[in-house]
Amino acid sequence: MPEGVYCNRKPIQNDTELKALLADTRGRQYYEEMKSLDVDKDKLRTTLKNTFKSRLKTWLDICARCGMCADSCFLYLVNNRDPKQVPSYKIQSTLGEIVRRNGDVDNAFMHYAMEVAWSKCTCCNRCAQYCPHGIDIGVMMSYTRGILNSQGFVPWELKIGAGMHRVYRAQMDVTPEEWVETCEWMAEEQQDEWPGLEIPVDKEDADIMYTCNAREPKHYPEDLAEAAILFHIAGENWTVPSRGWEQTSLSLFAGDWEACKMQVMEVYAAMERLRPKRMVGTECGHAHRATVIEGPYWAGRPDGQPPVPCIHYVEWVAEALRTGKLKIDPTKRLKVPVTYQDSCNYIRNYGLAEIGREILSYIVEPGYFIEMTPNKEHNYCCGGGGGFNGIGMFRPQRNRALLMKREQILATGAKTVISPCHNCWDAIRDLEEEYPIGISWSFLKPLLLSMVIVPEHLKPKEEDEE
Ligand code: SF4
Ligand code: SF4
Ligand code: SF4
Repeated sequence: MPEGVYCNRKPIQNDTELKALLADTRGRQYYEEMKSLDVDKDKLRTTLKNTFKSRLKTWLDICARCGMCADSCFLYLVNNRDPKQVPSYKIQSTLGEIVRRNGDVDNAFMHYAMEVAWSKCTCCNRCAQYCPHGIDIGVMMSYTRGILNSQGFVPWELKIGAGMHRVYRAQMDVTPEEWVETCEWMAEEQQDEWPGLEIPVDKEDADIMYTCNAREPKHYPEDLAEAAILFHIAGENWTVPSRGWEQTSLSLFAGDWEACKMQVMEVYAAMERLRPKRMVGTECGHAHRATVIEGPYWAGRPDGQPPVPCIHYVEWVAEALRTGKLKIDPTKRLKVPVTYQDSCNYIRNYGLAEIGREILSYIVEPGYFIEMTPNKEHNYCCGGGGGFNGIGMFRPQRNRALLMKREQILATGAKTVISPCHNCWDAIRDLEEEYPIGISWSFLKPLLLSMVIVPEHLKPKEEDEE
């Protein structure tokens, strides 16, 4: 059948299309149309010919189906060791079939592949560490998502998410004007308590260009205010760009590679325009992956690097604590059992495990930090990665996926989980809602603000006594 009005092979092009798709509540019409969406086999063959190359081809071929990756996948474990959740099975029965049949697949197959790609793999890359051949199913599943997306088989929420990036260059409908207004509003709100605090927009040649997650200005702008206060206390010369401030990429979860490129180019353009010494990103895992790890390749940068050095928020915090730009009042350190959620995207995929522990050594009273098991590069996904948190039709599967993190946290006895990643933070909030275990969860910023020593000269002046 011809392509649907909402479900089709065309990405969102403008605000009108985006609003129309959003108005299709829970994607009712979208999924109805998907039931009869044809596969464009010629297009699929061309995509395979142009993009299915060396590394992916080799991995698919050399997989010995030995099943040694099975126990490494948290989704296999929380689903009663279902053989259909073995990482190699998941990829061989989707991408493997598409390749073996040279694109001769039908609508029912694409529905199956979509379910596997978005509800049976969070692209957490954990299994790659346990495969004797180093085969990374997460990378392959991410590629499979791209193929499915190009044929119109993508969850409704993620088509919207990628559309947001295409239209707004942000994962939510925040215009540059709204962003700048939010910055001004947050700076103004702080004036009584933090005289002189600024959120400088488009300042050239600053030491730091700060980028964030669109959810912050849209839903909890206090996060932006907290970032500003901490930069203020640390005496940083910083700025935010009026355009190119959004670091995340729901297009990455959607497999919309063109939108990924559009988004990251906007951030890189801001770097080139403002020439900061470096960029600091907010507490988000996939945002770091999108801008720093994968972005340079999407953007075709020959050196594989962003235009200026980029660091994750945890790197800035650790540096500020180490150099004394931020000083912690030892009497205010956390004195409850605390554990730490290692985000796959910048721990497993970027090696920042020890930096997280360095921060904890400043903010948690000795003896109160308890590691999850396993941890660091071997930690399990929180259960909500790769877009899983946001897909309504796969909510039951996502809720089941949360059980592994719940068990890990319970085993620590911790009462607070520190989670410097938006997705992980959401998943931990949801697991407490679904299966209450009496925990709280937090980003680093509010914790730091509750215990940082404020230099005298930054405190508001007392009114002169009459
Ligand atoms: S991906 Fe690796 S560990 Fe898993 S079945 Fe294939 S060869 Fe074995
Ligand atoms: S990438 Fe993660 S979720 Fe996907 S199969 Fe491997 S371990 Fe499982
Ligand atoms: S949400 Fe967090 S834990 Fe889950 S895959 Fe993403 S970074 Fe990893």
